[in-house]
Amino acid sequence: MSRMKIAAGNWKMNTNLEEASQLANIIAAYQRPDDVVTILGVPAVFLAEAQKSSKNYSNIYIAAQNCHQKESGAYTGEISAAMLASMEVPYVILGHSERRAYCNEDDALILEKCLMALKHNVKPIYCCGEPLEIRDSNNHIKHVSQQLEDSILNLSLEQILQIIIAYEPVWAIGTGRTATPEQAQEMHQEIRKKLKERYGEDVADRIPILYGGSVKPKNAEAIFSQKDVDGGLVGGASLKADSFLKIIDSF
Ligand code: PEP
Repeated sequence: MSRMKIAAGNWKMNTNLEEASQLANIIAAYQRPDDVVTILGVPAVFLAEAQKSSKNYSNIYIAAQNCHQKESGAYTGEISAAMLASMEVPYVILGHSERRAYCNEDDALILEKCLMALKHNVKPIYCCGEPLEIRDSNNHIKHVSQQLEDSILNLSLEQILQIIIAYEPVWAIGTGRTATPEQAQEMHQEIRKKLKERYGEDVADRIPILYGGSVKPKNAEAIFSQKDVDGGLVGGASLKADSFLKIIDSF
């Protein structure tokens, strides 16, 4: 089964208008391989600008970095899935470890957000992953399995087929310390096994699972070549066009 190959960038709270526009323009106009889907997770205020840069090119899409779980209402400063849909934003990153840590997001809430995004046809990029102490005590598989059980494994079969999963060990995010290709493969295989148990092999084989955590041009190829790794969610290295383009070329 050949799955989508995906290079997704997460710009987090970086760039200004000019930088965002330049970065999106360069990546969109680059002769990217036809079989790699590129996704740019841009700050919400620059979604329209990035949309402009990417809309005349194929295989490149933008993503929001969060949305609210409620339909609309008195939630000052929040962004609804309906708003994203009205701007034709196709993807939204949900459950990133930084939002789990700094905004107290747990899997019950992330599931609500996924359901609201899906209701508006915005596809979630669902992030999961264990902190260092869990990895060190060898409980990483149990931890991530529980995250999945508390969130996306509650989706229907039609809904799960709209999801991209990003496995991002917290100890590897922004630290320069990357999981080895074998560590990534081990977890991705377990995630796919959980999907298979819940939805069957056919469905499990169709869902892209990305690795995130200090992906760089020098390690991308080894990680992406693992059987169950379908690409990367890239933070720091997605902020420089040359390094992100090298990562796009690493499949
Ligand atoms: C991320 O923000 O999802 C991420 C993986 O960051 P970095 O690549 O900088 O570790």
